[in-house]
Amino acid sequence: MKGVKAPALMVFLGAALLAGSSGGPIALIKISKVPGPVELRLETLRIDVRQELETCFLALAEPEDLDRLRKNKVGFSVIDRTAGGGEVLLVRVDDPDALSSLRRAGRASVVEPGTAVFWTETGSASASVPAGLPRKALSLRSVLPYLSRRSATATSKPVTAAPDPLIQTIVSLVSGPGLSSRVQTLQDFQTRYASTANCESAGGFLFSEFSALGLDDVRFQAFPFSSYTSRNVIAEKTGETYPDDVFIICGHYDSTSPAATRQTSAPGADDDASGTAAVLEAAYVLAAFQLDFTVRFIAFSAEEWGLYGSRAYAAAARQAGERVLGVINLDMIGYADAPPEDLQIIVNSRSSWLADLFIAAAANYGPVGATKTVDASFVYSDHSPFWDNAYPALLAIEDNPLRNPYYHQTSDTLDRFDIGFFTGATRSSVGLLAELAQPIRAGYPRTPVGLQSRWVVYTSLFNSLSAVRLTWTGQSDAAGYNVYRADVSHVGYVKINAAPVAGTSFNDNAVTSDLAYYYVVTAVAASGLESNRSRETSPYAIGIDTVLRSLAPTLIRFRRGI
Ligand SMILES: [Zn+2]
Repeated sequence: MKGVKAPALMVFLGAALLAGSSGGPIALIKISKVPGPVELRLETLRIDVRQELETCFLALAEPEDLDRLRKNKVGFSVIDRTAGGGEVLLVRVDDPDALSSLRRAGRASVVEPGTAVFWTETGSASASVPAGLPRKALSLRSVLPYLSRRSATATSKPVTAAPDPLIQTIVSLVSGPGLSSRVQTLQDFQTRYASTANCESAGGFLFSEFSALGLDDVRFQAFPFSSYTSRNVIAEKTGETYPDDVFIICGHYDSTSPAATRQTSAPGADDDASGTAAVLEAAYVLAAFQLDFTVRFIAFSAEEWGLYGSRAYAAAARQAGERVLGVINLDMIGYADAPPEDLQIIVNSRSSWLADLFIAAAANYGPVGATKTVDASFVYSDHSPFWDNAYPALLAIEDNPLRNPYYHQTSDTLDRFDIGFFTGATRSSVGLLAELAQPIRAGYPRTPVGLQSRWVVYTSLFNSLSAVRLTWTGQSDAAGYNVYRADVSHVGYVKINAAPVAGTSFNDNAVTSDLAYYYVVTAVAASGLESNRSRETSPYAIGIDTVLRSLAPTLIRFRRGI
């Protein structure tokens, strides 16, 4: 059974599951992405891929998996013949000192420049890895079932949009003193190193803070790591129009410092009380507004041990079939090495659109500058387990590489902050979140629902045409509807109808069947006021059967009938 390869998991799930393993050695292997896309072949061969990086995949493989790869001429290299049977971490090694300290602590192999895998012959890798080195545990399951599907392209143009007055009002409620006092409170726990009682107390504090805001749901999610457990704290404001479509804003509340001090002193003000305070502030200012989409405010734990809290959360969300449309992860947004500081926005190619929208929101609502980096190998914060599960996610961070000299030190305290930058970074994030979740405006038509799209192909006597057929649910407060199209998910919608559409369907004939299109509709009232956008839809499958039956038979015949 592929799912039962990590001994840490076996400990927690019990020995009964051991019976499912074939018992052979489990190799840790590297599969290059060059010369071309291999995802679908790996999926077909049922290879247990646990990490995507910019240039390669890392996988766990039993001997028969290696045979299948060889037979099918998929190039791979074995990192270690048995390491896949234990806990494996990715570790960022920016310099030779980091790599040699890693090699003193256990076994390490560099898989890409700056990226090593780390494991130990005995004991827990996450307990052995040197303090201060960013690390990530491999995914709990194969990352391929979703990654191998078609995704949004990385190509995009800069987004420019006028600021929205209602969202300006919302972000103006984000206050520097409010943020500072939240950071101070978290810092006052002395340490939030996961596995300490103080860290659990900080989690309890966050739970009560969220609860006081009157949100729809506040809960803990307990999860195991190394030989401990900790808790994520999750608060929800349920969407009025699309309760099952979720945007997430998150940070991690655990902290760390050198091994000698972390049990008692790890103030973690920038890393990452700053992100956690921003998440609390987002909940505080959005609590009073009704939103179309659901927003979750999450404080993760055990990030510093290897992203264990977010790994458990993202895997459970995928298992439950949750529709997570976008994740804003804030990790270190309070320190400015050289003002005016700007934000670095890290994404993988499938999340590129989210970074483009963040940059526009940062200009409108921060205002702060922001720069996008597309790098699937930047996996060292809580966005990356969402990547593993094919959810779009971004990381906002003050610098990459980091320039905060107090990082992971007992001196990472609030007095080092640039509060203006911190406030601007939070306003940017809250502005983007509000734009995505869409505050409901009094007096405006309701947001349309039920939007569906499909490719149709119809053949006349003279030629064959493709179109995208859109349908949605009618609503009594609409005098008509507008249809918008983009060629990148969520970015750059352009209205494609000349006059408001009177009915509840629209054919987009100006399409080419090998391109991706993304659609939303809005409702327009008799007064001319236009609603928020519907959920986005994108037609993937060409379905010529049912829709064509309704088209005029004198003009159009089924392709199969000719
Ligand atoms: Zn952090």
